[in-house]
Amino acid sequence: MSTPDSAPKAEDFTADRPFVFRNAIVITVDSPGVLDDADVLVRGETIEAVGPHLEVPEGTLEIDARGGILTPGFIDSHRHMWQTALRGYGGDWALSQYFVFYYLQWGQVFRPEDVYAGNLLSALESVDTGVTTTLDWSHGLRNPEYGEAALQAFREIPGRFVLAYGNYLGAPWEWANAPEFRRFVTDNFNAPNDMLGLQLAFDVPGAAEFPERGAFEAARELGLRVTTHAGVWGATTDTAITQMYDAGFMTPEICYVHASSLNEQSYQKIAATGGTVSVATESEQSAGQGYPSSWAIRRYGIPASISMDTSVWWSADFFSAMRATLSADRSRDHLEAHARNETIVANRLRAEDVVRMATMGGAKSLGMEDTIGSITPGKKADLLLIKNDESPAMTPILNPYAHVVYQAGTADLHTVVVNGKVVKYEGVRIGMPLAPVAEKVAQSVAYVRSQLGDNAWNEGMHPELPTDEEIENPYTYTEGDARVTAASDD
Ligand SMILES: [Zn+2]
Repeated sequence: MSTPDSAPKAEDFTADRPFVFRNAIVITVDSPGVLDDADVLVRGETIEAVGPHLEVPEGTLEIDARGGILTPGFIDSHRHMWQTALRGYGGDWALSQYFVFYYLQWGQVFRPEDVYAGNLLSALESVDTGVTTTLDWSHGLRNPEYGEAALQAFREIPGRFVLAYGNYLGAPWEWANAPEFRRFVTDNFNAPNDMLGLQLAFDVPGAAEFPERGAFEAARELGLRVTTHAGVWGATTDTAITQMYDAGFMTPEICYVHASSLNEQSYQKIAATGGTVSVATESEQSAGQGYPSSWAIRRYGIPASISMDTSVWWSADFFSAMRATLSADRSRDHLEAHARNETIVANRLRAEDVVRMATMGGAKSLGMEDTIGSITPGKKADLLLIKNDESPAMTPILNPYAHVVYQAGTADLHTVVVNGKVVKYEGVRIGMPLAPVAEKVAQSVAYVRSQLGDNAWNEGMHPELPTDEEIENPYTYTEGDARVTAASDD
């Protein structure tokens, strides 16, 4: 990415120096939507002004954003960051293999330093790929020592994070009320901090006595939001929604992850109580929680955010997630129409809707819509400049929303700003080398692998494939067929 000599250098960006993006296509995700050829001024942690030909203070650094698109930073509302150390390991898994691997067998060998290594790599990847805020759905925290390890990673990477504390090996109504957990909360979250938040993460499998009541009460007592995997085929069902609704725990402070195999009443309850849904399309497509839920929930007016879920299977690439979400939604519309012998003549879900899900949708899901999620003066400056003067895919830019969703990629991220700090510039991260992180991850992988042994390691990565039933094909040439006879005569 070439820039003129007058362009600022990475080392010029300091906390006390304002900077301005000049002549960008600005997707504000706020009124008035898209501004052509506009400027965005950042001062301290904040977006100070948005508009054409801005007057800027003396000494302001000027970033030439011509030919680029400026968007709010992406917001991931559900990512199991600790699993990133085993990136790609489960690429061929079904959900049952994931459950067996993490819940029944090998999740228990992870130490605090393994959670730290996974979180560190994932946090680095987040800011590198324009995900300026990530909710860490951290269900591998077997005690607060693990929680401290997860937090340590966030303190080393200049991103915005929310620790959604969970412990899938324990009972949420017990750990959420344990004195050691309460101490962890008061030690680490004793003052409001929009760079590092806390939520509770637990699921409701639908046991008749609804023991999760105690965990919801703990969340209420601590003033914490709750994120829960809901509508996961065969695991968390409508029963859970009924229990939560009847007990009065369905509120705007709940995020339903996936929500992809629920009935109409459950969707109506989520809509009526102001909850949000985290759509993890690539996860739902491979793991089988249900059909990616944007298609279902938009009928009920439920606000959606986007999430990656886990890099143990697929990527953490938000451009890929946006693409998959738009495509899966339209795919379902076509399929349903064809079943009625009809033709879709207008796609309901638009690229603009998906960009909104990836930004303001995430902010709403985290209860941070007044702080982040749009390019609005007064909000915190979490910004992406998508610009790559050498990329054919960035030429021309005619429909900015569609360009972000269907054309641009992570390689086109020119500048990433988190909380007013430039963390990536001219396509290069500032001061965050990969090598020390990769070293910690390599040590963690070596440890986990040694605990599993080579057999379990290999079997875990390559789940056994049942043999397919052979389907008789009437179009296969057979002996006596004229064409086969003719061919053999040659
Ligand atoms: Zn998940």
